[in-house]
Amino acid sequence: MRQRCVIAVEGIVQGVGFRPFVHGLAVERNLAGRVWNDTQGVRIELEGESAQIDGFLRELRHRPPPLAQISDLRSEFSKAVGTKSFVIDSSREGERRAPQIAADAATCSECLRELFDPADRRYLYPFLNCTHCGPRMTIVQDVPYDRSKTTMAGFPMCGACRAEYEDPADRRFHAQPTACPECGPRLSIRGSSWEEMDGDPLDRTLRALREGRIVAVKGLGGYHLACDAENEEGVARLRMRKRREAKPFAIMVTDLDVAGALCRLGQVERQSLSSPRRPIMLLKRRDGCRIAPSVAPGQRELGLMLPYTPLHHLLARGFGSPMVMTSGNRSDQPTLADDDEAREELSGVADLFLTHDRPIEIRCDDSVTRITRGVEVPLRRSRGFAPQPLTLPFEAKRPILATGGDLKACFGLVQGRHAFLSHHIGDLAELSTYRDFGKAVAHYQRLFGIEPEIVAHDMHPGYHSTDFAESLDGVGRIAVQHHHAHIAACMADNGVAGPVIGVAFDGTGYGLDGSIWGGEFLVADYSAFERIGYLRPVLLPGGDRAVRQPWRSAAAHLHTASLLEAGEELFAGRVAGAEWRLVAQMLQRKVGCVETSSMGRLFDAVAALLGLADEALFEAQAAMALEAAADERENGSSRIRVIEQNGAILWDARTIIKSVLEDRRHGDATPLIAARFHNSIAEAIVTVCRLARRRHDIGTIALSGGTFQNAMLADRTAERLSEDGFSVLLHRQVPCNDGGLCLGQAAVAAHALTED
Ligand code: ZN
Ligand code: ZN
Ligand code: FE
Repeated sequence: MRQRCVIAVEGIVQGVGFRPFVHGLAVERNLAGRVWNDTQGVRIELEGESAQIDGFLRELRHRPPPLAQISDLRSEFSKAVGTKSFVIDSSREGERRAPQIAADAATCSECLRELFDPADRRYLYPFLNCTHCGPRMTIVQDVPYDRSKTTMAGFPMCGACRAEYEDPADRRFHAQPTACPECGPRLSIRGSSWEEMDGDPLDRTLRALREGRIVAVKGLGGYHLACDAENEEGVARLRMRKRREAKPFAIMVTDLDVAGALCRLGQVERQSLSSPRRPIMLLKRRDGCRIAPSVAPGQRELGLMLPYTPLHHLLARGFGSPMVMTSGNRSDQPTLADDDEAREELSGVADLFLTHDRPIEIRCDDSVTRITRGVEVPLRRSRGFAPQPLTLPFEAKRPILATGGDLKACFGLVQGRHAFLSHHIGDLAELSTYRDFGKAVAHYQRLFGIEPEIVAHDMHPGYHSTDFAESLDGVGRIAVQHHHAHIAACMADNGVAGPVIGVAFDGTGYGLDGSIWGGEFLVADYSAFERIGYLRPVLLPGGDRAVRQPWRSAAAHLHTASLLEAGEELFAGRVAGAEWRLVAQMLQRKVGCVETSSMGRLFDAVAALLGLADEALFEAQAAMALEAAADERENGSSRIRVIEQNGAILWDARTIIKSVLEDRRHGDATPLIAARFHNSIAEAIVTVCRLARRRHDIGTIALSGGTFQNAMLADRTAERLSEDGFSVLLHRQVPCNDGGLCLGQAAVAAHALTED
């Protein structure tokens, strides 16, 4: 029977090759009608045999174009009116003002084939792309998404590219960044002082890499610093030139086979590594892998990624072995994306610049992910993810901006049930990063047409993200406690309503009482929380300085356990005697100390006691060293002590500190002690959660906060809780660290509006 069907599709369906795809599908099934973009997304009218229409709908639902994300698809059947052919209505009238801009996507397989096909007109062209791949978010300047409003505006299309762009059946139909060697961007090679050099840019780059030199490479969202990952001298030089940089460097490898030779890969890892998002994945390295020691000192994991632009493919294949590809910046700053800034900042770091003339509109760092309990979880949600929206479990009645935290800054804009989370912006204590933050907020507001009426922010009065929230006029403000935001983020991430028992463990978060929290047990839903338990607070000598000097945390925990004398001996030779005695005095007299229940500092303390970290050059360095040292086969743990005081459950870490010292005295190996410590934390969580379940009759546990970036801890805790009959929520879509805070703040604010 012939029928007519009108279909409305919502989600990321514009600018991703949706209409040519629909055209192909309709023609294949002998269906007449038309397809066009409207303010809600894409509309389709079909006419033909009902069996064919059903098939069309099935196909559309289950196999949409690679970059499309359908959030809603509605169809309505009626009588046929006798339409004969299928057309793409390419009028751009009525397109929504704020389309859902897609994330940047890795080179697709068809483009990759063209890149290495000597007969193709784009053979070896480093900027080829199509509607299924290439730059999006990083080149968009304004909406509607159109070439003239991207950084491709300065490259008028040649006749051949134009013909493809206008052909509805071509895979480059309306591909805004499409380009070829005739009309598109070009590579250039420059010396360390940015002087233009002769010769083929790619050849010169490959030669320099083989000689162990450092090359700054302009990519999709910014510059990378590249060098030979097997050349220890070269990698060490890079580390030195980046200034006190201690963080592990990421590595780019040609393909999954090379990745599999370096690290252990399962099916999920393979899928994630080769997805269009192409994140850096943290993977267990194989014994005897030839990567230079300076790439990831002291780590058992390597951060690997596959090439995601045609230029990367040319480099990786040409070079033939693993390359370091770390963000082009000095120490902790965000990736540099602007050519002038790169020239200025990197001229003392890079020997050469491999650059090009397509400007980057928004800088965007690589994303970092890891598999936790079979699921890919972002630790840094950036390129390839942003700005794809998440769906909130309920609708926000008014548009919201959530400003997130200060470290790993990331903000969110909410309209209805859509939460658009920004790329990773960096540390707001840097003035330039704070400025970027403001610019990025304005940019996202324009792109998505969202004018926030409510601003949600952290309760910390000293946060720059709080300053930012307070600088906005004419908006309502909602302050959300740090750990409540972590737990709300985990709930929203999993689409649950609560209440849950939230375990929020991190380094620092501003508490309701003005002290530093970080080892918190909350009973929480979106509307409120109660702090039902916490790590028994210790006095931390020197406040913020303790973050960089883990031995101060050790002193704090030793002092609490009345073991400060043992510390003097333990740290002799590692900490100056005078400095140790000063800290001991501060603790005894309670001056210059802050009270904290921070879990991060407990990890620091134990790492320092085991001699794994005398200094922390970046956040969580000591905790990472402790995890890397732990022997996963060890199942032992220490005694857990939990007391009840004024109605709250206090977990006392003194028993744990004591057994670390005892084990050391017995001469137990560090990997065993480190593992027992992890097991003890997991055990303590289970103990407190059991008590809480009895009192509050809640069986769902949400695990959040930066401490749970520790895979061993997250795994063991989730396993032990599940064995005990709890249902466990871990993050899936946003980081458990402060990069995920904005989602929790947004959810709390959106929920508050529903109660108005
Ligand atoms: Zn492509
Ligand atoms: Zn062209
Ligand atoms: Fe936090």
